[in-house]
Amino acid sequence: MKTDFKLLVAGELVDGVSRFDVINPATEEAFAQCPRADEAMLDRAVAAAKAAQPAWAALSADERGACLHRLADAMEARIEDFGRLLTAEQGKPLDQAMYEIGGSIYTIRAIAGMRLPDQTMRDEGGNTIIEHRTPLGVCAAITPWNFPVILLVGKMAPCLITGNTMVAKPAPTTPLTTLLLAELAADIFPAGVFNVVCDQNELGPRLTGHPDIAKVSFTGSTATGKKVMASAAEGVKRVTLELGGNDAAIVLDDVPARIAAEKVYNGAMANAGQICVAIKRAYVPSAMYDEFCAEIAKLTQAAVVDDGSKQGATVGPVQNKMQYDKVKALIADAKARGTLIAEASAPDKPGYYIAPTVIGGLSDDAPLVAEEQFGPVLPVLTYDDIEDVIRRANDSPFGLGGTVWGMDQLRAMDVARRIDSGTVWVNQHLAIDPNIPFRGSKQSGLGSEHGLAGLMEYTQAHIINAVSLEAEPA
Ligand code: NAD
Repeated sequence: MKTDFKLLVAGELVDGVSRFDVINPATEEAFAQCPRADEAMLDRAVAAAKAAQPAWAALSADERGACLHRLADAMEARIEDFGRLLTAEQGKPLDQAMYEIGGSIYTIRAIAGMRLPDQTMRDEGGNTIIEHRTPLGVCAAITPWNFPVILLVGKMAPCLITGNTMVAKPAPTTPLTTLLLAELAADIFPAGVFNVVCDQNELGPRLTGHPDIAKVSFTGSTATGKKVMASAAEGVKRVTLELGGNDAAIVLDDVPARIAAEKVYNGAMANAGQICVAIKRAYVPSAMYDEFCAEIAKLTQAAVVDDGSKQGATVGPVQNKMQYDKVKALIADAKARGTLIAEASAPDKPGYYIAPTVIGGLSDDAPLVAEEQFGPVLPVLTYDDIEDVIRRANDSPFGLGGTVWGMDQLRAMDVARRIDSGTVWVNQHLAIDPNIPFRGSKQSGLGSEHGLAGLMEYTQAHIINAVSLEAEPA
């Protein structure tokens, strides 16, 4: 596996000012080193992006799109390398890593084909009004450690296709797939169009506060998102924030318990629960509770928790020690307050392994119910009245996603309409699509990613409002 990585600054693949270890969460061992940038290097990256932006914007969207297609092709040619590296740095099982890389390639291609032509808003009586969109300038992408590749390309592709340039900064514990992407990008994009700097969590404020950054697209925790928003205030920068969630799954009373348990289990435990829109609390009718618990217990006990590079592993380690400690503490607290429904077994060896765990009997204010766990543990709660469960699902500062499960699809959609979240899926989960806007409500975010709404966020709209002088009486 590749272990020699460089930053991408002003079109050059460069060493940093120092290096730091990248830990494989399945072994707790350092398997590669990451170059680290300092503030001067970050400033050089921003300056290069600023210098490159006018010429990049002057290309046609088709020319810019062709570069993005070349990047997607280059990633596809290295798809195995990307998948293995992602498993090594992030921990997810290899099939899930390959799925993320495949989805990233698909996302780049889909966004490379999107356009924002001028919109004619009025054209009558000699009055022509058009809305015309221009790039913002240099945009910053700041990404977290749960989906380091797909979350990056979901920012990079719309930024570049609309004529902006970018400085990207990955999370310190998962920087390497971003650097592999940077290595491919170095051969494809004009110097300065796409830059990558890595840090150990200290460069974020300088990047978001930099006077030459026009927009910050941030994905990460709500706490850090608030800091990003505050830092952007000084320059009235554009921000897109994709933050935390505490998504409810509401199981309606007409669903067979076996089907509901399977859907909810998969939605809660994929990527070891480290998904912003993972199912983080499940509400089932009281009358279904025992059967639902018996079914979800079978699935939980069948989990194969192991190194994601091992064939057959269904749940990998959580990504880092800090998250491991946080999730372990939440599980211990929830076990003390509630009733253990099921717990898988985790290997007894080094690695941040947490056995998938399902817990019942918790009150709505228990930390595992009220907070975002971001790990492989799920609380199951009961309800008797649909109005009551809608109120409880909405009683959260978060509003990212959610799911409703019901055989009567129209009834399930009626419930979904009343959930205050950016996305509510009915009888499916994680159907994130580069053509469909994705956004959070309340403290789960600000602005949109994906779709034309996401593309617009990388542009400034200008209204051109013209009348014909000939229409004036002489
Ligand atoms: P985090 O907020 O700790 O870090 C995210 C990124 O911000 C990292 O690159 C980090 O280096 C950087 N950063 C840290 N301090 C900064 C500062 N002051 N200014 C600017 N940047 C700074 O989040 P995390 O722990 O890496 O990720 C987990 C969280 O991300 C979870 O809460 C999860 O729900 C959320 N998340 C949300 C989505 C979404 O689309 N809504 C997707 C994935 C993850």
